Amino acid sequence: MYGKMKDYLSKTISEIKEAGLYKEERLIESQQQAHISVKGKDVLNFCANNYLGLSNHPRLIQAAKDMMDRRGYGMSSVRFICGTQDIHKQLEAAISDYFKTEDTILYAACFDANGGVFEPLFTEEDAIISDSLNHASIIDGVRLCKAKRYRYANANMEELEKCLKEAQAQRFRIIVTDGVFSMDGNVAPIDKICDLAEKYDALVMVDESHSAGVVGKTGHGVSELYGTYGRVDIYTGTLGKSFGGAMGGFTTGRKEIIELLRQRSRPYLFSNSVAPAVIGASLEVFKMLKESNEIHDTLVENVEYFRNKMLAAGFDIKPTQSAICAVMLYDAKLSQVYAAKMFDEGIYVTGFYYPVVPKGEARIRVQISAGHKKEDLDKCVNAFIKVGKELGVLK
Ligand SMILES: *Cc1c(COP(=O)(O)O)cnc(C)c1O
Repeated sequence: MYGKMKDYLSKTISEIKEAGLYKEERLIESQQQAHISVKGKDVLNFCANNYLGLSNHPRLIQAAKDMMDRRGYGMSSVRFICGTQDIHKQLEAAISDYFKTEDTILYAACFDANGGVFEPLFTEEDAIISDSLNHASIIDGVRLCKAKRYRYANANMEELEKCLKEAQAQRFRIIVTDGVFSMDGNVAPIDKICDLAEKYDALVMVDESHSAGVVGKTGHGVSELYGTYGRVDIYTGTLGKSFGGAMGGFTTGRKEIIELLRQRSRPYLFSNSVAPAVIGASLEVFKMLKESNEIHDTLVENVEYFRNKMLAAGFDIKPTQSAICAVMLYDAKLSQVYAAKMFDEGIYVTGFYYPVVPKGEARIRVQISAGHKKEDLDKCVNAFIKVGKELGVLK
């Protein structure tokens, strides 16, 4: 049997390669940080989600080791059988405290949090109204639920209002959006979304994966940025980006919602508990972020510094309030050649083009970190200018 399938798979793989969509993996031979080693070459990393530069922070590494000594390596159980330690509850409380919510439930990943949030809460009587640029895990989560689906163009409030009007016949409605959209770096207009939700009697859910730790005066996410505390019903998020970058996800929000998820959410009920080392380091993250806002302040300064220098140099950058800067090139081939030349200059950035971004909107996405030094940012800007001149992007 496999012979036939093997031919089919090989053909599909060749088609992916011919379309130029085959994803290669670059091997990093160092820790995840601003300076990484790739094939023995030291390059500056501008494409990690390591916004707060915590991925190899000594305090997190120590906290992970300490917790492994205290609570062991693995849980070998799901939460409700014998996989809940005191530290899992402590981390859930720390996350609730950070987002000013009532309760939190941990998952192995935010992909699971989003995969397990809709089906327990909504039925065919209900409506899910989703932004067109929402993350794949939200799309998959919605697919697992029988609720009626509505979709509005990215951050388009007229279209959202239209969907809400159409969805009035349903029992419950929920508006679902990413906090920060990963390709443009734009922030969803949560204040306006909450206004519409109140007008049309809907719940609001925000995926804070790219926004938590980044947006808001002290980085606490969209509700800090827009003053929407108490108006967002559900937040999902990851421990795999700003908060140390290991792995793990969560849903946080209204207590009855979280309570029912513990009873019914399939990725929580049927998948392993988060390992003690990850819990230990995550507890340290939230402790550090409470002690001082220094790391977040550095991130904000770095983003400002980088953006101002790039704009002054004449680059076309999408407006952003996050740590994502989309340097627009518009041409798919150019984005790939540009990124390759940047790599030769010791700068690791990624070029994106259709179908990851709309046709004719190819770009290089730069992700700034609190772990970058001013000289790292200067080196990146200078490489952009040098390559930009070579390729005729800059005069
Ligand atoms: C990264 C990301 C996820 C997935 O998070 P994991 O914890 O890595 O599974 C989910 N939603 C959004 C918006 C993301 O950016």
